[in-house]
Amino acid sequence: MKNLEDGLNRRRAENLYRERLVLESPQGAEIHVGEETLLSFCSNDYLGLANHPRVVAAFREGADRYGVGAGASHLVNGHSRAHHALEEELADFVGAQRALLFSTGYMANLGVVGALTDRHDAVFEDRLNHASLIDAARLARAKVTRFPHVDVDRLGSLLTHTARPRLITTDAVFSMDGDIAPLVELAALADKHGARLMADDAHGFGVLGQGGRGTFEHLGAPLVPPAILMGTLGKALGVFGAFVAGEEALIETLIQRARTYIYTTALPPAVAEAVRASLKLAREEHWRRERLRMLVEHFRDGARNLGFVLTPSSTPIQPLILGSAEASLSASRHLRTHGILVTAIRPPTVPEGSARLRITFSATHEASHVDRLLEALSTAKIA
Ligand SMILES: *Cc1c(COP(=O)(O)O)cnc(C)c1O
Repeated sequence: MKNLEDGLNRRRAENLYRERLVLESPQGAEIHVGEETLLSFCSNDYLGLANHPRVVAAFREGADRYGVGAGASHLVNGHSRAHHALEEELADFVGAQRALLFSTGYMANLGVVGALTDRHDAVFEDRLNHASLIDAARLARAKVTRFPHVDVDRLGSLLTHTARPRLITTDAVFSMDGDIAPLVELAALADKHGARLMADDAHGFGVLGQGGRGTFEHLGAPLVPPAILMGTLGKALGVFGAFVAGEEALIETLIQRARTYIYTTALPPAVAEAVRASLKLAREEHWRRERLRMLVEHFRDGARNLGFVLTPSSTPIQPLILGSAEASLSASRHLRTHGILVTAIRPPTVPEGSARLRITFSATHEASHVDRLLEALSTAKIA
């Protein structure tokens, strides 16, 4: 027990201690924490669908029809008409033969990498990949090589010198930086070396591309096998869950082999009904993506004028990299005194020395909200 206390105290001393806020309200531009009303810039509810009345109604109707629990895994008797319809709609949306639902993005990543690789296979990962992709390759006991961030040339030479390259995995939009992976070049490299590309589009799906189909659409590249797409349903779609999309044989392989698919209870069918409603909104309401683009541009112009150095991100993830954990914590506290919530992101979520404010935008924000954020940043003494 003593060791645990020591470890916690050390974390506190290093400004790395993490704490949870207790929300009293739904997600939205304004949230309630205790007595405080805070303008929130740290949700991944990019399209503002997490509390949309049509999505909430679909959830309720789903519960009326199916009850609340799936009761079993998909392979036993937990696979409902709602799950099945959602899989078909997701496959149609992203232009894949099939899609397969997982309970979370974390589990989808573990499932795919575990089903496709073993300890004889080499997996290549962008150095800034999400923790779930890193854990996936570890759990599969694959031979992991992490290549420098978005460095296609370096990856090319690493691949040339590797036996059995099986998978290249990458965030499509990097979760803490907001920049976009060179998916077209990565897919070409994968092809050339007999490997597969797996793109984790947790932050692009719903947000990027004219139709919201994600990073592939944004880059003008159709999703072509053997490329694998993982998308999450708890961020831009505002609900919960994840899916993997690809060709028939990939999906059937996952059903047979992905342990995080087989050995876990299916999502509640009502969750699938809620996602179907939010997918429909994401497909139809282009103004949500346009609003996001406008907010991001407005923020970047304003922040530049204040002297901030911005990262090359055109997505709703706009980090201000401040360096030390202490600096980012104190900036976050400063914003909080102005009624603004931006959590400090610190190691090991981001590399040592690159702690930051990770600012995110949602279609529920107004331009005046961005002005309030900029105003508070201007007095934070961090530019
Ligand atoms: C959030 C996230 C995940 C995990 O998705 P969940 O559905 O929240 O488990 C996976 N990959 C990336 C890049 C993410 O940002």
